[in-house]
Amino acid sequence: GIEDLSDLEKLAVLGRGNGGTVYKVRHTRTTSIFALKVLRFYHNTTNIRQHAAREAEIFKRVDSPYIVRCYAVFDSEDDLCFVMEHMERGSLHDVLFVNKILPEDVISGVALCVLHGLKYLHRMQIVHGDIKPSNLLINSKGDVKIADFGVSRVVVGKRDAYEAFMGTCAYMSPERFDPEGWDGYNADGFAGDVWSLGVVVLECLVGHYPLIGVGEKPDWATLVCAICFQERLEMPENASPDFRSFVSKCLVKDWSKRGTVDELIDHPFVNRTYLGSHQ
Ligand code: ATP
Ligand code: MG
Repeated sequence: GIEDLSDLEKLAVLGRGNGGTVYKVRHTRTTSIFALKVLRFYHNTTNIRQHAAREAEIFKRVDSPYIVRCYAVFDSEDDLCFVMEHMERGSLHDVLFVNKILPEDVISGVALCVLHGLKYLHRMQIVHGDIKPSNLLINSKGDVKIADFGVSRVVVGKRDAYEAFMGTCAYMSPERFDPEGWDGYNADGFAGDVWSLGVVVLECLVGHYPLIGVGEKPDWATLVCAICFQERLEMPENASPDFRSFVSKCLVKDWSKRGTVDELIDHPFVNRTYLGSHQ
């Protein structure tokens, strides 16, 4: 096990997020490589700390090949550190930045991994609440895993709070904009993760955030309008019938009519030949 933070040597910065920085680190005694996420508490209120501690407990408890593993959590006065498995190929956001679009067979594999991860989390009564490309990580074997349990959302970081919220709200389901339709992490919240997966899957084939046009200003009003009221989906012409059907089932505005994880996991779109190493 990793007993002390001082045994970890920082090698590089893997990413910067909302309030935290993720480093590639080496455990000096074993030479094993890990990812270390450091969350700083700029506004050190008891509330924020308690919430972060609870999220850290979730991260330590989850144990699935479809969720990024957390080996240790270090809690000090000014920061909270997570020692995680290193996902060598970075996030789906990085992959999309380089490749622009992905072939349907690859998207199918990504979607299946996310569905398995969500199935596990939902069984544990956990709503992820922040499924988006930068929170889906890929290792050297091509396995896709869910990361980030919303710890960053309760930490006030360097990044403009408005910008951070915009980034996250783009993948939020319509019911989360309706104060009466969604009262936090209740049973209804599970459908929100399915919506977010639908947005991610469509983005992988469209090549950009799919709910608003490339030229449109991605401001709050445009986004909320598109998410809550726009009925037409920009579906690429080359999309297969399976792809269209899968995305349409995820992006049903009424959460009670949306496909569930258990239904979607049997959908033909995610039951093509899958080349990842998960079994
Ligand atoms: P964001 O708001 O962009 O999602 P965040 O504050 O939620 O950021 P994380 O998602 O945990 O922070 O990490 C930020 C980035 O660091 C990721 O998008 C990814 O590129 C990289 N990263 C995080 N964890 C790992 C890991 N275990 N292995 C490799 N890279 C990682
Ligand atoms: Mg993240």
